[in-house]
Amino acid sequence: MGIYLFKKIFAAKYYRLWYAAAMIKILDDILSYREMCDSENVQTLQRGMNFRMNPVYSVILMSQRSSAPYLDKIHNDGVTIEYEGHDLAKNYSTNPKEQDQPEKLPSGKLTQNGYFIKAINEYKKYKGKPELVKVYEKISSGIWSLKGYFDLIDYKIINDGKRNVFRYILKLSNQEKNYSIENIKLEHTRLIPSEVKKEVWKRDQGKCVLCGDSKNLHFDHDLPFSKGGTSLSASNVKLLCMKHNLQKSDKIE
Ligand SMILES: [Zn+2]
Repeated sequence: MGIYLFKKIFAAKYYRLWYAAAMIKILDDILSYREMCDSENVQTLQRGMNFRMNPVYSVILMSQRSSAPYLDKIHNDGVTIEYEGHDLAKNYSTNPKEQDQPEKLPSGKLTQNGYFIKAINEYKKYKGKPELVKVYEKISSGIWSLKGYFDLIDYKIINDGKRNVFRYILKLSNQEKNYSIENIKLEHTRLIPSEVKKEVWKRDQGKCVLCGDSKNLHFDHDLPFSKGGTSLSASNVKLLCMKHNLQKSDKIE
């Protein structure tokens, strides 16, 4: 084997290894509903599609659960999400699931589908930066997973047997600088590994351990990090509602 060929093969192999190691993977940061809303600085997040929720990015809420109203999925390549568009609002139709998903309202105003499509068309036409989309996935009632930032690169129209629906294609973004816009709260919750959070959630049955409230929950450390607390085991993490979480931090300060 000539040295050049050898080098070429070696380089290709090495490159693949390097690529696999350097490639960022889809995140799986478990968050309570409250933590998700807090990290977006909103009281509630109800719509699945939120175009330009802030000046930097859009937000979508996805679900791969069988009970979900839309067909969203993560492709086998592990970096592509296919996200179904949204139906006509109920106040415009008695049976939205029978009608084509709308790009515009009867008034001509763009729907969320329309804003996403417009961004894709502009990206393709001007070869600029794709719209950045932050993706959360619903795991179960009140429990969410942050999947990270994605580039909105394409869409297609599919007939689902009854009507036309939109499918948006999102690819895991490698614009790493975007990660710096994460706020400190999220950095904090990130320190608790997802496995621990899942375990705590299961053990505490998705409720505040003090009052049983199942809303506005936080993962709480028995010892704050500043005082040497570790988050590595479920034994020093528990679920608290916002009220009890605040009461506790008052005592610590
Ligand atoms: Zn409570």
